[in-house]
Amino acid sequence: MQMRGTMRKVVQTAAKVEPVPFDKEKPPGHVRFVCVSDTHSRSDRMGTIPDGDVLLHAGDFTDLGHLQKVKEFNTWLGTLPHPYKVVIAGNHDLTFDPKLMQEIRAGNRPMFWAVRDEEAETAKSLLTNCIYLEDSETNVMGIRIWGSPWQPWFYDWAFNEERGKPILNKWNLIPEGVDILVTHGPPLGHGDVTITGQHVGCVDLLNTIQKRVKPKYHIFGHIHEGYGITTDGTTTYVNASVCTVRYQPVNQPIIFDLPTPEEA
Ligand code: 5GP
Ligand code: MN
Ligand code: MN
Ligand code: MN
Repeated sequence: MQMRGTMRKVVQTAAKVEPVPFDKEKPPGHVRFVCVSDTHSRSDRMGTIPDGDVLLHAGDFTDLGHLQKVKEFNTWLGTLPHPYKVVIAGNHDLTFDPKLMQEIRAGNRPMFWAVRDEEAETAKSLLTNCIYLEDSETNVMGIRIWGSPWQPWFYDWAFNEERGKPILNKWNLIPEGVDILVTHGPPLGHGDVTITGQHVGCVDLLNTIQKRVKPKYHIFGHIHEGYGITTDGTTTYVNASVCTVRYQPVNQPIIFDLPTPEEA
């Protein structure tokens, strides 16, 4: 049908992208990234993890952040061949959120009683086999990566923040020029549909990505049922949730290759 001149399609599309097969050879002069998220202390039951230069984990590596589980996660990371591993926390990694742990210890969060005696001060130091990012950046093989654990409020778990200005303040910390953005939760409209059919991604994160930061890749998880890859034509969005909505660790890691930046 012919559209009238004034009618324009303004809706940003989320086109589906097929995953790169694991047996595809990495092109020369490229860095291979292997993305996982939401392993929830079930990584021992995962299938093959393809080799690559950089493993990215977008949070929820435990169920409640017990330090013993953090240690086990770190040990598992140590068994993987990737020269670089970059990890952020998710809402389940409770001991990584000192503010929440204080609340739990004060007796204000009975739901999380099981971790009340965990020494949260040491949680981050247990991750010796990776680069842990929390509103911070790392440069791996010339590629800039920013990691942030925040997600829109949902029952007050770790790193929850109210939609609107409070969470936008976190996204405003992301510098321009970042090549890969890793957050725990999805932006609105990409890998963010729940089992009940709702889009629950963060609109302020979408705006930050599309209007300001424009990273090549955005890696996340959190909405397990949103597993898969989409694109808006500028950024490729990867929901790398390994666990399904029933916490079965059956989704495969997602790989992609980026050209190695020219030496300055
Ligand atoms: P997790 O508890 O591992 O962070 O998330 C597990 C599941 O909880 C998701 O796959 C999704 O079904 C649900 N969930 C997490 N965050 C939200 C949210 O903000 N809104 C809704 N409706 N569901 C959520
Ligand atoms: Mn850029
Ligand atoms: Mn999860
Ligand atoms: Mn989560």
